[in-house]
Amino acid sequence: IERTFSILKPDATTRNLTGAINAVIEKAGLKIVAQKRMRMSLPEARRFYAVHSERPFFGELVDFMVSAPVVVQVLEGENAIAKYREVMGATNPAQAAEGTIRKLFALSVGENSVHGSDSADNAKIEIAQFFSENEII
Ligand code: ATP
Ligand code: MG
Repeated sequence: IERTFSILKPDATTRNLTGAINAVIEKAGLKIVAQKRMRMSLPEARRFYAVHSERPFFGELVDFMVSAPVVVQVLEGENAIAKYREVMGATNPAQAAEGTIRKLFALSVGENSVHGSDSADNAKIEIAQFFSENEII
């Protein structure tokens, strides 16, 4: 059993897609074991996406992440990290497979509705940034 970290991004919360996206997540067999709606601060968003700080889209990305509430989640299941990446679909919704969250809901490569951890190490780090162990049940 594995855990991954998920964010429903501002384009999703502002379009009332929290429930629709959670339905896709749960249908895929991933269990939502922690969840909260929050407004990310600028320092939190910069820290979260620090690996992309040298990329040309970093400013745009961080501004977007603080532009409206997000829902942060911990998902649990067999191979949760790889499974959620599959359920999310490609970063660019134009390249995302049928039935994936990004194919169904994303607006663009920037406003792409969801984040999911890309490795076990990052899942641990990202979960710890937003949740304490007693909030994960
Ligand atoms: P995430 O980390 O959010 O799960 P990802 O792992 O599929 O997405 P990354 O390469 O880690 O993709 O990029 C992080 C985020 O940065 C993307 O989800 C997207 O919102 C934004 N991003 C990536 N490439 C671009 C781009 N060319 N223009 C604008 N935003 C981008
Ligand atoms: Mg990523």
